[in-house]
Amino acid sequence: MGEGNPAGRLTVVPYVVGPLDNRTYLVAWGREEGAIVDPSFEIEQVAEGVSRLGIEVRYILNTHGHFDHTMGNAAAKRLFPDARLIYPREDEELIKRLVEAASLFGFAAEPSPPADAYLEDIGDISLGEGALLPIFTPGHSPGHFCLADREGRFILVGDLIFAGSVGRTDLPGGDFATLYRSARRILEGYPPETALYPGHGPATTVEAERRSNPFVGDRATITP
Ligand SMILES: [Zn+2]
Repeated sequence: MGEGNPAGRLTVVPYVVGPLDNRTYLVAWGREEGAIVDPSFEIEQVAEGVSRLGIEVRYILNTHGHFDHTMGNAAAKRLFPDARLIYPREDEELIKRLVEAASLFGFAAEPSPPADAYLEDIGDISLGEGALLPIFTPGHSPGHFCLADREGRFILVGDLIFAGSVGRTDLPGGDFATLYRSARRILEGYPPETALYPGHGPATTVEAERRSNPFVGDRATITP
């Protein structure tokens, strides 16, 4: 257990950012090493948290390539130049077009720097004595990943599962049957108390979504 981490586990700090109810997460091992997940609007909010907590940002991670999960990559990399930017190779085309995609929704965005590595290749992402494990969960986008705490206490689920809903599958490369299978692997593969932190809206749990999610819950009526 690190000296700066009496709890001995990874912690998750959510930031509510921008007009689309995005969540950017700061995941850290105590006050030591951390990762910024899905930098979006208002990256300065997250940067303020990083400096107040005294965290060394080792990674900037994108669960998928949509503009509202990647538009803060450039600013985050400027603020934390030693951090490695890691995103899905399969979503790289989406990331290369993020400025255009943002403008279609009426937002100005900066292009992303290129990845330092891809989630497909990286293996476990160590933070202090903890780690995030990338899990390939396509459907909302072709290259979507979830990031699971190695201890199984929480999963950053991006736009796979929301509290009571799921990510849209009508954007290019989206597919509901694929999303359904990805979501069921997460919901059946982790204990009920596992916390789920989505890319939009409030946190939930495996148990809550299995019980009542109308799209991917155990009694879902909208199945592929
Ligand atoms: Zn998305």
